[in-house]
Amino acid sequence: MKNSGICPKCGSNNVVRVPDNGRYASSNSIYTTRATLFGKIPVIRYVCCSCGYVENWVERPDELERISQQFG
Ligand SMILES: [Zn+2]
Repeated sequence: MKNSGICPKCGSNNVVRVPDNGRYASSNSIYTTRATLFGKIPVIRYVCCSCGYVENWVERPDELERISQQFG
C-alpha cells in the first residue's frame, strides 16, 4: 500500500498518506525514550478511503535503527 498506492484489502487506489503531526495521531507513535520529543518516532499511516484499512509505517532508516537498538 505504501509503495503501490493500492489497498491490499479492496484493491482501491483511493489511498492517502497521513503523517504523524504529533497532535492528532500521536497515540500510535513509538517511544524509544520516555516522554521526550527526541525519543518519539513518527508513524506514518496509509489509509484506504474506500474500505478504511490502515497501514502504519516508520519511514526513516535512522528511526528504524533506533527502534532496532531499543527493542531488538
Ligand atoms: Zn481498501
